[in-house]
Amino acid sequence: MTFLGMPVTAPRGVGHLRGDEPFPAAARKALADSQLRLNLQHATTTIRGKSGRVIAELPDWQELRDAGSALKTETMARLPELLEQLEERVTAAGGVVHWAADAVEANEIVTSLVKQTGEQRVIKVKSMATQEIGLNEALEAAGIQPVETDLAELIVQLGNDKPSHILVPAIHRNRAEIREIFLREMPGVDPALTDDPPVLAAAARRYLRETFLSARVAVSGANFAIAETGTLAVVESEGNGRMCLTLPDTLITVMGIEKIVPQWSDLEVFLQLLPRASTGERMNPYTSMWHGVTPGDGPQDFHLVLLDNGRSAVLSDEIGRQALHCIRCSACLNVCPVYERTGGHAYGSVYPGPIGAVLSPQLTGVDDNASLPYASSLCGACFDACPVKIDIPSILVHLRDEAPHPRTEKAAMRAAAYTMDHPRLYERAQHAAKLAKYAGKRLPPPLNGWTASRDLPTPPDETFRDWWRGR
Ligand code: SF4
Repeated sequence: MTFLGMPVTAPRGVGHLRGDEPFPAAARKALADSQLRLNLQHATTTIRGKSGRVIAELPDWQELRDAGSALKTETMARLPELLEQLEERVTAAGGVVHWAADAVEANEIVTSLVKQTGEQRVIKVKSMATQEIGLNEALEAAGIQPVETDLAELIVQLGNDKPSHILVPAIHRNRAEIREIFLREMPGVDPALTDDPPVLAAAARRYLRETFLSARVAVSGANFAIAETGTLAVVESEGNGRMCLTLPDTLITVMGIEKIVPQWSDLEVFLQLLPRASTGERMNPYTSMWHGVTPGDGPQDFHLVLLDNGRSAVLSDEIGRQALHCIRCSACLNVCPVYERTGGHAYGSVYPGPIGAVLSPQLTGVDDNASLPYASSLCGACFDACPVKIDIPSILVHLRDEAPHPRTEKAAMRAAAYTMDHPRLYERAQHAAKLAKYAGKRLPPPLNGWTASRDLPTPPDETFRDWWRGR
């Protein structure tokens, strides 16, 4: 038996946390796609510039980051108590709280709730948690059609594609490609559709309007849940979320247990940090908050599914648990030199970029995502950009240590450590290393992995010690 709160990792065979191939192989394919690199470079440069400008307007940005970080640390230290408080408040306000230990349980809960309504179609607000657990596939298997209503998610869904960015899931597509997808997949689309962005947005709006007005069940995620009041919050830019959260009779929210904050006033910090770091806006165009059920106003049936799926395992790691502080702003993706070149699909998980490289391996267990902690140059740009100051480089190094290592590498590292610990041996090794200049630019097997993507540096003719002695 597995209970929520037990430190077990996310189950295999369900959801989207594991890729089909290791990062280096997937990245090599992505790097060969020059159109993808062009799209990514254009998009990340634009978002970076916008975000940098609005962040520079705030003289207390660093203090806000400190406050966000401290609030998240406090939240993680009190997580069980806060979750129980949230359950009590949501229940008192007329909602029903469900606890899901993993993706399988969460999918079963949501599918059965939708079935109980008798509906065969649900509208969805963009949600990383439901992508993580593969909810769309579970609903489709049960004969229920999920309709994504966020424009970028809709493009991904119609294109039978996978999201590649936390905030802009279709960042790998340019407008010509989007036009083609709409012409091919969108029912009733105008055959004279152009690739002008307002024209594409209008086509999506027409398609979604009928769905919004007729759907009786919606599924959402949540950006924040306030333990003190039992309030849920979703922030978004298009207004599709507001429609999903208010029009249907039934609302089902799937939320990772780390999304909780202790008090209402804590939102003051996060609602300043999130839009500036994320979309480069001063505030979110739409911030929707709801509190249980209000008779005669909005959904009359509200369910909150609290999802673990490996989060307790992350929480049990003293260094890695910082990854649970993430508010999914995507700033770390937009500054990452690795992400900018490979895009999100290479990471194999719904969580790409630097945060994905530390969150996915912890949710699945490092063995299942052993190459991701290496998907970084450790330049530290993600740490500088993170609005809640998650020290991603330190977690990457920590996870590299936990990842399985070949025996030859372990032996080489032990030998290197011993040599560096013994000055005379080290000196002799330095002299011996001079012979490496005859080895060329590559190391022989079984050490050739290191020089597969780098040249072996040519050793100097004179070591520092020799130079020093000579003076
Ligand atoms: S790790 Fe930090 S920068 Fe990256 S998505 Fe999360 S909050 Fe944003």
